[in-house]
Amino acid sequence: MKEIREMCWQVELLTLFPEMFPGFLEYSLAGKALKEEKWTFKTHNLRQFGRGKHKAVDDTPFGGGAGMVIRADILDAALRATLPHDDRPIIYFSPRGRVLQQKDVLQLALGIGLYCICGRYEGIDDRIFQKYEIEEISIGDYILSGGEPAALVLMDACIRLLPGVMGSEISRDEESFSEGLLEYPHYTKPSNWQGYEVPEILLSGHHVAIAAWRQKQAERVTMKRRPDLWENYQRNSNLKNN
Ligand code: SAH
Repeated sequence: MKEIREMCWQVELLTLFPEMFPGFLEYSLAGKALKEEKWTFKTHNLRQFGRGKHKAVDDTPFGGGAGMVIRADILDAALRATLPHDDRPIIYFSPRGRVLQQKDVLQLALGIGLYCICGRYEGIDDRIFQKYEIEEISIGDYILSGGEPAALVLMDACIRLLPGVMGSEISRDEESFSEGLLEYPHYTKPSNWQGYEVPEILLSGHHVAIAAWRQKQAERVTMKRRPDLWENYQRNSNLKNN
């Protein structure tokens, strides 16, 4: 695996709810890494670029229909005032985006950071995508009420890959998706719990046999639960072997 560079990974967020950050990223490994300045974040309140007494950022949709849309001119003013002058990707969270995969997470963690636009209401005026190069990312086929939880999910997935954040590099390479397979099952003490036994091979101390067993289990669970991943995995293994 390519080494992730030693530097502070920086996230900037354009949001109507800056107080939602760092949210749960204040805790556990991500929280410790934040204190150690392995990553930082900065929020920009979209409201401050709003119009009129109420600082409105949204308007009714052309063509009619329910809900409100964030205006392109407001978003543009916010982006012009807050976009850093570097080459970090601009990300907009949207159910219409590419569904986030572990390989995207790894690529984003290898970069200098992110600039995230968190949507609300029905979303944003589509013309913004004509003016700016924006990557649209979805965190799954369901609808959230805003982009903030999606930003936190993406940040969490990236932060744990930053150097020194997780204890063991090996566990990072072995987990689900890293080889295109779901992970093998885990067991810990006691070896007999209420009559339920741990698979005997795991107590054998035979590392090669254990690795083979785990590989088999990973293949089995992937085949059964995720035929889509399994098909890809088989295709890739055939390519490698030919
Ligand atoms: N009308 C939109 C949904 C708007 S939900 C549609 O049907 O596509 C409000 C905001 O929540 C969106 O602008 C987006 O920023 C965020 N959001 C909702 N679901 C999301 C998902 N699955 N992934 C990422 N962001 C999402």
